[in-house]
Amino acid sequence: MEKNYHVCTGCSLLCDDIEVESGKDTINKVYTACRVGVAHMKESKKKATFLVDNKPVDGEKALNEIVKILKNAKSPMIFGLGTSTNEAQKQAIELGKKINATIDDNSSFCFGSVVEALVTNKIKTCTLEDVRNKGDVIIFWGSNPADSHPRHLSKHSYFPRGSEKQRGWEEERTAIAIDIRKSHTAKICGNYFIQIPQGGDVELIDALISGLSGKLPKTSYNYPPKKILEMANILKGARFGIIFVGLGLIYSLENLEPLFRLMKVLNEKSNFHLVPMVGNCNVRGFNENLFAETGYVNSVKFENGIVKHGPEYSIVESLKAKTVDAALIIGSDPFSSLPRSIAKYLLEIPIISMGACETLTTRKAKVHINTAISGVEFGGSAIRMDGTLVGFKPIVETKNPSEESIFKKIMEAL
Ligand code: SF4
Repeated sequence: MEKNYHVCTGCSLLCDDIEVESGKDTINKVYTACRVGVAHMKESKKKATFLVDNKPVDGEKALNEIVKILKNAKSPMIFGLGTSTNEAQKQAIELGKKINATIDDNSSFCFGSVVEALVTNKIKTCTLEDVRNKGDVIIFWGSNPADSHPRHLSKHSYFPRGSEKQRGWEEERTAIAIDIRKSHTAKICGNYFIQIPQGGDVELIDALISGLSGKLPKTSYNYPPKKILEMANILKGARFGIIFVGLGLIYSLENLEPLFRLMKVLNEKSNFHLVPMVGNCNVRGFNENLFAETGYVNSVKFENGIVKHGPEYSIVESLKAKTVDAALIIGSDPFSSLPRSIAKYLLEIPIISMGACETLTTRKAKVHINTAISGVEFGGSAIRMDGTLVGFKPIVETKNPSEESIFKKIMEAL
């Protein structure tokens, strides 16, 4: 057994300090990862599986069936890719161009607008290393990294010493949680927790903006204005502030305008950055790779060399309007993440699924290929939640095909 350092692809933190004891095809021990990371790395024990109509077949038959579906489709959709490597995502985009597909991912109903604002430089951002080295006021707004990204607070945002923060969290960092419930992260923040009612985010943004301008803020809910004023003064005094934005905030906003307003005032009074708490290891990579190719982060339709974009090309609207007639779903489970009333249209069209886990979607697929796990069974690169490119090598060998190898074969066969 060898001991080496590896990158964990269990979430978008892409921790690069994971010590793993492994053999050729077995992972024996995983040190330094969180429980999510250990479970993710130890998943790599499956046999290669190719299914057509839920029955095992060989790889060639599965590939033939995929090609047949894509050739017959007039308006296919490619969806997911949040756990794929950059290299596989780029191939999926090429495939999308070749077959005139609609291409989208979860970000069209999650963080897409925030990532778009970051890649077009509409919001100031920073790296997680900046947070560790300089961060003094850290806001977790509608996010709960203690559960979603378990090493976030210990490795980057709160507990560690940094080059300019040698006295650490006890004296030099203030962590604030804003949420509708007292999450595990809110408990760590202690007195710096603002509990808001569901949908109360915009009102708090306005109250904080008033407080930052020295006015006594007002809110309709039961939160003492003096406490908001106190928070606003902490934000005003920040030398390097960060807001880690979670879905709790994004789902409460109709658009990002209130967030833009807050960031503008914060940066007039102090120095604030924003980082989205995206979940899967390479959701941000999908947005950035599609943006580099098309100028859009999601909801794109390729049509004979022309790029079309709009909400009508998101998975939600495409399924509602029944405008797609086949779906290639990679590393995602729309049957679990979308309302049943929308996802049920997928039952009317052939689904091709690729991924390392069995899900509701894989069970409903016409063809399913159990692919190798990126970062565990094959190498490549991904983009961390803060936009940093991270490369990784495989830890073990596997019989499962990589997504890249399948995309290559599909392209050749088409
Ligand atoms: S925090 Fe995320 S990347 Fe880091 S070890 Fe845990 S699952 Fe892996």
